[in-house]
Amino acid sequence: MIDCDVAIVGAGGAGLFCALEIAKRRKDLNIIVFSEVFPTRSHTGAAQGGVNAALANVAKDDSPEKHAYDTIKGSDFLADQEAVFKMCSLAPKIIYELEHMGTPFSRLENGKIAQRPFGGAGFPRTCYSADKTGHVILQTLYEQCLRHNIKIIHDFLVLDLVASENRIYGLVGLDFSTGKLWGVRASVVVLATGGFAKIYWNRSSNCLGNTGDGVAMVSRLGLPLKDMEFIQFHPTGLRRSGILVTEGARGEGGYLINNQGERFMKKYAPSKMELAPRDIVSRAIETEIREGRGFKDEEGFEYVYLDLRHLGKKKILERLAQIRELSIDFEGVNPIKEPIPIRPTAHYTMGGIDTDINGKTPLKGLYAIGECACVSVHGANRLGGNSLLDILVFGKLAALDIVENASFEKKEFLAKALAKVEEKIAFLFEDKKHSENAFKLYKELGDILWSGVGVFREEKGMKEAMEKIIKLKERAKNLTVKDKSDVFNTELLFSLKLLNSLEIALAVVIPAIERKESRGSHYRLDYPKRDDKNFLKHSIITKENGEYKLSWKEVQITKYKPEERKY
Ligand SMILES: Cc1cc2nc3c(=O)[nH]c(=O)nc-3n(C[C@H](O)[C@H](O)[C@H](O)COP(=O)(O)OP(=O)(O)OC[C@H]3O[C@@H](n4cnc5c(N)ncnc54)[C@H](O)[C@@H]3O)c2cc1C
Repeated sequence: MIDCDVAIVGAGGAGLFCALEIAKRRKDLNIIVFSEVFPTRSHTGAAQGGVNAALANVAKDDSPEKHAYDTIKGSDFLADQEAVFKMCSLAPKIIYELEHMGTPFSRLENGKIAQRPFGGAGFPRTCYSADKTGHVILQTLYEQCLRHNIKIIHDFLVLDLVASENRIYGLVGLDFSTGKLWGVRASVVVLATGGFAKIYWNRSSNCLGNTGDGVAMVSRLGLPLKDMEFIQFHPTGLRRSGILVTEGARGEGGYLINNQGERFMKKYAPSKMELAPRDIVSRAIETEIREGRGFKDEEGFEYVYLDLRHLGKKKILERLAQIRELSIDFEGVNPIKEPIPIRPTAHYTMGGIDTDINGKTPLKGLYAIGECACVSVHGANRLGGNSLLDILVFGKLAALDIVENASFEKKEFLAKALAKVEEKIAFLFEDKKHSENAFKLYKELGDILWSGVGVFREEKGMKEAMEKIIKLKERAKNLTVKDKSDVFNTELLFSLKLLNSLEIALAVVIPAIERKESRGSHYRLDYPKRDDKNFLKHSIITKENGEYKLSWKEVQITKYKPEERKY
């Protein structure tokens, strides 16, 4: 048994910042961060383009108020406005805190933090460190955690939460390096497990870990998930792998080109062109491909071009060095000399665990922060650069709430929770007659979601996708882990994660079918208009007796009334 006051699950930007903010204020608390991967390998490290804050270093007229307006408009008016105002007003302070911790931001000639334009933003507001912003933030936070002696246990896969009488007691996890199962007793548990766009498998920009474990664990407790149908498709994933080419590449001036050599964004967003919000650019690319103005290679991959050549060698090497390397390594294309073949890729999950502004869930002692949570500040479509901000702001607010309001009385750990997980693992190891393999089912799940619940959706395709997911769930009862070893058993790991992803996939498709309108990233060919009368509301999906139930919750509109979203 492991014992602590606060267990934080996830060592990405959200988890580490939250741990740090608690540790700075309460030295008496025993905080442990659990992570499936080594902390600096968390997905935050992949963030390329930057983090938004209205510092007004480049455009003097920018302000947190304008940042809030852009965010709300970008969200297609589904964001809760009080939370958005809070996030945007805290943004400059958080960036300076990061700077003072030693984050090496790129600089302007005058020494101030540099800011670049990003999609859907009225001003150049995205603070960056070349095209490695997440990497430098994560390294800085990790160093600070070491400095504050925060205990981090990695290669530890959390499998379930332990709760009773409307209170969290702890969790159960697998030490992946030994194969040993552990019960963890904790008065407060903070979930910071990241997003779940990897359920789209190789149609995604996300790392292998982003399979929605935290969200699935919460749904098993019967707690609400919010706006799960809103999946962000980033316009520029590399053609074959879905690996991301940052929006910063268009922020620096990159063009999107079809097979006529045309900058086609002029038809879809004449004023913002390539820097329209992601949902609009993704649909534009998919429309070009569908209408025959894309390219197709000999392997059948369809794509358009992102052209950076006119930016010149110096700018590409200075500001987009990683993009150059990724393009060479994964596409065999050098962007200084050739255009990059790209296509939209499942990138970010706007929905997640329903929380209040301090990350609290309805279960006493349980918090959720970062991409696994839905506060909601991104509504139906997140603006680029707002997620790194979200994980920091709400990581901090949760920490402050824990410090001020959480109760740390000790509870007994419920041993039966451990036994239940033991049984589940033993069953996965059992040889079965019609055995199924996790990686094969994952690939099928990704294909089903991409074609049924992708950039363009309609009722028939989504219903078919739902049936197919239900069938996959049935087949998953025959999952058989053939590798019987205890140490770093990746087959076991992905079998456990697949069971979570299948639950999550259903929680995405059910509200997607019922939301009979188009809003932000949720675009329906059969309901192409936004319908504020019937759907200006959050979807809430909750598990009751093993079945998902859908309900709706009011959107908090305090200042900006919904208007037509034009760019
Ligand atoms: C390629 C890419 C580029 C991006 N670029 C930008 C950008 O420029 N600007 C921006 O604002 N946003 C960007 N984003 C989005 C942003 O990076 C993420 O939303 C954000 O980093 C998520 O942080 P997090 O702390 O919530 O989760 P993560 O950083 O994903 O961390 C999740 C943590 O949870 C742990 N974990 C997960 N499941 C378990 C489990 N079962 N048991 C134990 N531990 C577990 C993992 O080990 C990890 O430590 C980008 C996203 C991608 C995919």
